[in-house]
Amino acid sequence: MQIGVLALQGAFREHIVTLEALDVRAVAVRLPEQLEGCEGLVIPGGESTAIAKLMDAYGFYEPIARRHAEGMGIWGTCAGAILVAKNVIDAVPDQRSLGLMDITVRRNAYGRQVDSFEAPLQFDSFFEPFQGVFIRAPWIEEVGQGVDVLASHGEHVVAARQGDLMATVFHPELTGDPRIHRYFVESVVGG
Ligand code: GLN
Repeated sequence: MQIGVLALQGAFREHIVTLEALDVRAVAVRLPEQLEGCEGLVIPGGESTAIAKLMDAYGFYEPIARRHAEGMGIWGTCAGAILVAKNVIDAVPDQRSLGLMDITVRRNAYGRQVDSFEAPLQFDSFFEPFQGVFIRAPWIEEVGQGVDVLASHGEHVVAARQGDLMATVFHPELTGDPRIHRYFVESVVGG
């Protein structure tokens, strides 16, 4: 199985390292043609406005939507969650997103860089909590009917899944814990 990691800006290397540790072939996707061989795509955290502009410049919007329609699973982490969401609150004017997943995210919901934090998160699928690293994170303010909540922090949803789409507002690639990557590969893409 080959998983692509969108490598325009942000924490893409750490995703590649974590996927390779699971014996998954992970490729840094820099051009839309590279999506063709990918059964799954990770859109990393970073800065959603920068990634959105680069996606536009390199012509990624239509090919990602088409590959998703053909069955490619997509996981957005943090800025990536903003990019997969149908609705974004507090986006910059004209900020574009893929609009694939039926969630409303609030950008920078937890505050500024200095308000970044870590918290243990309880997932139904995992026995031990998962350490969530939140860096200028959005939260998921609303989920549509076909969306399953995977984890919450306080009152807010921080991980969700809709079929072959997944969004996490924290950074699982920065913890060295591969459980969410394994879940994406085995259940979201492979399920
Ligand atoms: N606040 C950033 C944004 O709006 C996301 C931060 C992150 O990905 N860690 O894109």
